[in-house]
Amino acid sequence: MRKRWLVYLLCLFTLGLTQTLTQAQPNNAFPLLVQSGDNWAALAVRFQTDEALLRQLNPHPNPQRQPTIGTELILPETAVPQTGSLIRPFGTLLATAAQHQTSPWLLALRNNHTSPHRPALHQLLFIPNSTTTPRDLPAGFTSLELSQTVGKPGQAVGLRAVLDSEQPVTAVLGNNEIGVFANGRFLVGLTGTGAFFGTQQPSLQIQVASAPLWEQPWQFRDSDSWTFQQLTLTGTAAQIDQQSIAEERERLFAIWEKDSDTPQWNTPFQLPIDNFLEISSDYGARRSYNGGPYRTYHEGVDFAAYGGTPVLAPAGGTAVVAEFLYVRGGAVIIDHGLGIYSGYYHLSSIAIAPGDVVTPGQLLGEVGTTGLSTGNHLHWDLLVDAIWVDAQAWIEQGMSCWILAGLNGACN
Ligand SMILES: [Zn+2]
Repeated sequence: MRKRWLVYLLCLFTLGLTQTLTQAQPNNAFPLLVQSGDNWAALAVRFQTDEALLRQLNPHPNPQRQPTIGTELILPETAVPQTGSLIRPFGTLLATAAQHQTSPWLLALRNNHTSPHRPALHQLLFIPNSTTTPRDLPAGFTSLELSQTVGKPGQAVGLRAVLDSEQPVTAVLGNNEIGVFANGRFLVGLTGTGAFFGTQQPSLQIQVASAPLWEQPWQFRDSDSWTFQQLTLTGTAAQIDQQSIAEERERLFAIWEKDSDTPQWNTPFQLPIDNFLEISSDYGARRSYNGGPYRTYHEGVDFAAYGGTPVLAPAGGTAVVAEFLYVRGGAVIIDHGLGIYSGYYHLSSIAIAPGDVVTPGQLLGEVGTTGLSTGNHLHWDLLVDAIWVDAQAWIEQGMSCWILAGLNGACN
């Protein structure tokens, strides 16, 4: 009996404690997932607080550093969100007010300016409206979207934006120049990261004409689901001609590094094979040869299938390679435009010729085991900006239509 009372008492005590903890939490102290354009100045305007307080709540060893896209920030209890646009104008407040159809005096008041006649060059200006989230975007951008808020190594990386007017734009992720494509005021940037990119916070930099460089770090988090494969090469397989491998690679990279400006597809990408037994190796599988370190990874997706199974074009494009190669055997490579290439290897036969324009579902060849291969399978690879990316993730994310929509195009 006494024991039971003790349990009740304990329960009551715990309940009381939980309640106190809940009460101590202010209603609006919610964490915020940082998006592109959420820098300290923009967040201070948006939540009607000041930069110093935000930095104090979210300390970082480098005080110059802007909040990292894909990480969470703590907001102060007093944070109250407001809506509107943040812009970096090229002229006076008066000109900006006219452009945005608002009162110059209201603009001056909301931005602590004494007069609307003063120039406000490259200064962050807040324009209240009811629909927009205030974000500090690159000069002349009315929107900027990323394909993923937390980047995933091995996947294609995309950005899309709408600009006030046509402007020359370049973009860089870490050390890697991003392929940028425009359709008037609509803009898409594309690159990949590779399966060994790891967890890191590379800087996303965007340069618009002669405006100051726009820059924000971006969180990439490595997957914990990579598979590890130990392969043993013996006899003839061990005597692979390294020279021929290097030459083939070099020749193909000369093709993959070319970007054409126009998308050649207008449908979602499909799997290139209908009848397969299993996916025998995913993209990014770490590989060790003869007990060595895991220094390489699988650059495509392997579909185990019977010899002679049809291999089909996943989307529209132009065949740029259709021939037998040393490593890849019967090979077809399709240029889809915008620096996107897909490849089909170890084919027993090839059904198209270089220069052929292919339509979705068109027969490219048949599954075989030609080149350096130990059994019938299709090795399918996808390159974006001359980097191998995960083709399965590409399809699952609907990247092909996401890109077309970013260029104001249709996809169906
Ligand atoms: Zn393979």
